[in-house]
Amino acid sequence: MNPKWNGQFSCFDLVAKTEACPRSVIPVGDFEIGGNDFVVMAGPCAVESEDQLMRTAEAVADAGARILRGGAYKPRSSPYAFQGLGVVGLRLLRKAREATGLAIVTEVMSEEDVDLIAEYADIMQVGTRSMENYALLEALGKCGRPVLLKRGMTATLEELLRSAQVIAMAGNPQVILCERGIRTFETATRNTLDIAAVPVLKTVSHLPVIVDPSHAAGVRSLVPVLSRAAAVVGADGLLVEVHPVPEKAMSDGNQSLTFGEFHRMMDDLQPYLELQQETRQFRPQLLAAGGAD
Ligand code: PEP
Ligand code: MN
Repeated sequence: MNPKWNGQFSCFDLVAKTEACPRSVIPVGDFEIGGNDFVVMAGPCAVESEDQLMRTAEAVADAGARILRGGAYKPRSSPYAFQGLGVVGLRLLRKAREATGLAIVTEVMSEEDVDLIAEYADIMQVGTRSMENYALLEALGKCGRPVLLKRGMTATLEELLRSAQVIAMAGNPQVILCERGIRTFETATRNTLDIAAVPVLKTVSHLPVIVDPSHAAGVRSLVPVLSRAAAVVGADGLLVEVHPVPEKAMSDGNQSLTFGEFHRMMDDLQPYLELQQETRQFRPQLLAAGGAD
């Protein structure tokens, strides 16, 4: 292990990788995140209507996704933008789970909503804007559900792991880390996907790491190639936005894939997942070779 990383991250003892705990595997329904499966979570940015959600759920399940994403409570940059359907959206997510067997991941923005959302969600999503909301993180420590913790858009990896440690210290070790792009001086993409975050986090922490290429890219044309990159560098899965008619989406339409695009992306991932096996196999040697700096 790079000695700098050791000093930087080992203090977060509940989430740091150790010989006793090299990898945590989080069961969700009848599959696992952080084990040998590459788990894809897909769906609309926001739950908009029954028709939109049910059609999307069926399409993503058919393409091989295991988890349906969809925001019922939306953190929007503008106070004038659609803020989500709230509990009506949660009920639609439940209906989609019953129809397709997909597990559900949805965002929780406030500690006051944790108990309600935990009744509907299999995984509780913490958005980039909430990564350091400690009241929320502490409440999630007691929610009895796995937490998908998104990296703050201006947060370092150390800060991301610090937030994961807060959830674990509050009683919940089931945290999935998510790289979703960070703010840099680059403006061609919505955020800059920090692809190195994946192997760094997989080296210093036992927690699963997934990548959200949609919020990193901001444009749908880049989503498949960023997904392939995530697969190759060792991510445990993806979080991808998909919409029946992206041009009409109430949020994040520019970065949402159509059903056909998502299906093609899933079909094309396999060779990259095989490369991941090689990366995983060779990881100890690569780290030993590059670990001195
Ligand atoms: C989302 O997943 O739709 C979302 C709001 O993501 P982020 O918190 O990464 O912006
Ligand atoms: Mn979104």
